[in-house]
Amino acid sequence: MYQWSRQDRLLHLLPAIPLIAFYVGSTYLLASESVWLVVVFLLLWVAVNVFAAGICAGCPYRGGYCPGICQLYFAPFLSLVMYKGKEKCSGARSFKVHLALLGIFGLGSYAFAFYWLFRLYWQEQPLVVLGLLALLLLHMPLSFFILCPKCGYNDTCPMARVHKVVKKGSDSDGGGQASPD
Ligand code: SF4
Repeated sequence: MYQWSRQDRLLHLLPAIPLIAFYVGSTYLLASESVWLVVVFLLLWVAVNVFAAGICAGCPYRGGYCPGICQLYFAPFLSLVMYKGKEKCSGARSFKVHLALLGIFGLGSYAFAFYWLFRLYWQEQPLVVLGLLALLLLHMPLSFFILCPKCGYNDTCPMARVHKVVKKGSDSDGGGQASPD
């Protein structure tokens, strides 16, 4: 288990900044039209955290600092409540179900936000809508390349697993050996 340094935590703020700007901007614009749009958007975010909490149940980082916090997840703490005293939700099948639901609701929440942002604001403020899309697209690679490498010590977090596979592939392409940072 990796011990996050102060420098790590400061660096982790970099991918968090565009994500926070995306959520603040999107929530503001949706709320300007209808409070119900914001309610649904936030409920989707809560659902993402509920399913992520099932994954966090098997993670050594849950309950403390982890890169998931910079992705605006409260799942690492929710997991302690939902899966109190358990180190795993309930096996590989349950992990896959939680992962699938996390992906569906995660993508669903972004699709929901952009469906309404495009529909409501594209005609009058296309640059604002494109700016929000750019913030989200900027967050994704920053998150993957800054948050995930050290978390690759962890066999639970889905993105850490993906990062391990990518790193292993690029190391073997270059003739090197995969190893944690
Ligand atoms: S590293 Fe990932 S799986 Fe582990 S607690 Fe954080 S968000 Fe959950």
